[in-house]
Parts: sequence; structure tokens; C-alpha cells
Amino acid sequence: MSLKIDKTKCMGCGACITVCPYDAIVIEEGVARIGEYCQLCQACLSSCPEGAIMERKEDQAAVPSEDLASWRGVWVFAEQREGRVAPVAFELLGEGRKLASARGTELSAVLFGASRNDAAELVKWGADKVYYCGDDIFRGFADEPNAELLSRLISKHKPEVVLAGATAIGRSFLPRVAARLKTGLTADCTSLDIETDTGNLIQTRPAYGGNIMASILSPRTRPQMATVRPKVMKTGRYETGRHGEIIDIDAAGIKARTRVLETIKATESGVNVNLQEADVIISGGRGLKGKEGFEMLKELARLLNGTVGASRAAVDEGWIPYCHQVGQTGKTVCPKLYIACGISGAVQHLVGMQSSDVIVAINKNPEAPIFSAATYGLVGDLNEVVPLLIKKLRERKGGQ
Ligand SMILES: Cc1cc2nc3c(=O)[nH]c(=O)nc-3n(C[C@H](O)[C@H](O)[C@H](O)COP(=O)(O)OP(=O)(O)OC[C@H]3O[C@@H](n4cnc5c(N)ncnc54)[C@H](O)[C@@H]3O)c2cc1C
Repeated sequence: MSLKIDKTKCMGCGACITVCPYDAIVIEEGVARIGEYCQLCQACLSSCPEGAIMERKEDQAAVPSEDLASWRGVWVFAEQREGRVAPVAFELLGEGRKLASARGTELSAVLFGASRNDAAELVKWGADKVYYCGDDIFRGFADEPNAELLSRLISKHKPEVVLAGATAIGRSFLPRVAARLKTGLTADCTSLDIETDTGNLIQTRPAYGGNIMASILSPRTRPQMATVRPKVMKTGRYETGRHGEIIDIDAAGIKARTRVLETIKATESGVNVNLQEADVIISGGRGLKGKEGFEMLKELARLLNGTVGASRAAVDEGWIPYCHQVGQTGKTVCPKLYIACGISGAVQHLVGMQSSDVIVAINKNPEAPIFSAATYGLVGDLNEVVPLLIKKLRERKGGQ
């Protein structure tokens, strides 16, 4: 979408300049011009007394409105890694079921790679249909074949909603699919809802550095595509006796110019950085006072078979890379155990971890807000408490 000025109507009054929050409009030779800073907020549209600002016609109605109704069904792209379906797929099937029920339509999963047995599992997790392609081309992840086959299937079956995980895989190839289909994609959603009558998907995600939650709609294009952060939605119900249809898809004609030779897991000093799937996370904040503090947390994480997270303050200090950040502008996590060490509990941190099953807070300030979110609170110096924990765990493990 973009905006344009009808030069025959514009009087150069500057009313649009006053309302533009981005200083994107200038008056040149007596008429307004919308510049590169325009964020398409559309505040200027209603401000113009002459009605000279409008949406470009060529951007309107990618799908004529009467055709929108022919797009039906909710699809979940079930990503797999090394032949195993990622847990985010089960969360999306849980959420997809709610959307499909609200619209009185079917819920389908799409699985490329993995096994037919995995496809059958997706039915038990709530899918009515599974479009399954077990071709070898999908063994290691590559954007091109995934984008090509998914686009082909969407064009043929016309689902109104397509969801995928906001993971490295989903974020990588879903934009290609959206571009091919000339439709919108809302990345990194934290909640979804649907208007039952219009079928418009209400896609909510943090915007402007996490300062607001934006609800984004794609009312004129189908399908409506969104990636959703892992661990934000609860998994659906697993029913062993559930029946559904598995539709085998042929990958004939699907090509890949790249080939995955090897996959190497990202680890840092033996600590996995895949926070979103970790059962145990030991997080550190400014209270650690330096890089060295994280070495202590890594040791605790190793003993608990967990991984290390961090507050933004610790990341900003350069004590640990951004990929460890938990919170509004970092990762949303939901482990079984979250231990917050020297973290005050600012709301921007809490939103990323407060749905953890058990939260343990270690902080020397008894008034720290983290204690209100904690299941167990330890008021004390982390430099005493954490070494004691490490000592106890080592003793339990026979001195390892
Ligand atoms: C738009 C926006 C987005 C943001 N996104 C994020 C985000 O994604 N994630 C995030 O974490 N923050 C985020 N923030 C920053 C957030 O507001 C806080 O500034 C940040 O979380 C504070 O980090 P902290 O708790 O480590 O540091 P502090 O608030 O400085 O807290 C340090 C804590 O350590 C305790 N402490 C000190 N020494 C010890 C000791 N020896 N033993 C025990 N306890 C000790 C102190 O009592 C204190 O409670 C964001 C802010 C904004 C404005």
C-alpha cells in the first residue's frame, strides 16, 4: 500500500504536515509531497480538507472483495527439524483450532519432510487434514523448495489463514511465500483473533520497539499470513483416537539451487541458545555486575540441563549476546523452571517469562518487582546463593 497526493486538488494548506507524526510530508511548489519517512499510518487522509490524499488505486484490493469468501480454512505450517516436528506446530494447531471453530471451517496442517507417522500425529494434535510431502528435498531446510511448494498448495486450495512459527525457519521462507502470493504477512505475532463475520485475522504484535501492541489486519488480501512466537500460545489437546485425512503431495518440479550439507547447532561454551524450547533457563541481569557472572550461570545451567537467558540490561552491557535476551524485545520463553538472578523484574522482562511454570527469583532487594512474579523468592546476594546451589547440585551428581 502507498499514498498519493492529487495535485489538482491539493491547496498546499499544510494541514497534513501538522498531523503527520513522522515529518514525512513537505510542501513543494505549493503542493504536498509524501516522502520516504511515511509509515503509512494514514493520519493525513482525514486531515486534508480537499480530500487530496488517497491510497494508490493500483495497491487496492489484491483480491476483489467478492472473491474473499472463496478463501476458506485455517492452515498451520508444521515445521520440522532433522525429521522432528517442532513444538511450535502443536501450539499453532491449538490456536488454529480456535480460529477455525470461530469461522466454522477446517483446520489443516502442512508438513514437508519428516515421516508419514508425524503427519498422523498432527491429526491427533487437532488437524482435520494434513498436506504431507515426504520428498528428500525437504530433509534439510532450504527456503526455495519450501516456498515453492507451499505457494503452490495455497494457490490451489485457497486457505484464508496461514500460520507458521516465528522461528528461524518460519521467518526465513514465509516472506517469500507472501511475496509470491502478493499478500500481507505479520511477523512475530504474540496473539491472534478473528472477526467471525468478515474472517479478518486480528494479528497482534509489539511495535515501535515494544512500546505499543499493534493489531494488524489484511482486509483486502488472502490468505492472511502470520508467524507466531513459539511458547506464546498453549498447545491444543492431543487426542489419541482422533481421525483425519492425510493428503500426499507430489514434489515433482520442485527444485532447489542450494543443498544443506551439514547442520551445526549453535552453542556457546556448551550452552544451547535455543531458549524457546528449553525446559530450564537460568537468567542473569545487571546484578551479575559483569561477564564473569554469566560463567557462573552457565555452570548452573549445565548442572540443571538448561540454558542461559539474560535481561536487556545485561545484553546492553555487552556481557552476553542478544540471542540470550528474554523479554518484550527479546525472546518469549515458557520453561518448566526459570531462575532470575540479579534481575529487577521490569515489565518488559516479565512479559517474556511470566508464563514459566516455576519462577525462582534471587535478588538482594526484597522490594524488587520480580518477587511478585516469582513462585519462590530468595532474598540474598547471588554471589553467595548461586555458588551454594552449584555446590549442592555437584554433590548430588557425585561431584561432576
Ligand atoms: C521498549 C523497551 C523494551 C525493553 N525490552 C526489554 C526486554 O526485552 N528484556 C529486558 O530484560 N528488558 C527490556 N527492557 C528494559 C527494562 O525496562 C529494564 O531496564 C531491564 O529489564 C532491567 O534489567 P535488569 O533487571 O537486569 O537491571 P536492573 O533493573 O538494574 O536490576 C538489577 C537487579 O539486580 C539486583 N542485584 C544487584 N546486585 C545483586 C546481587 N549481588 N545479588 C542479587 N541481586 C542483585 C538489584 O537489586 C536489581 O533488582 C526494555 C525497555 C524498553 C523501554
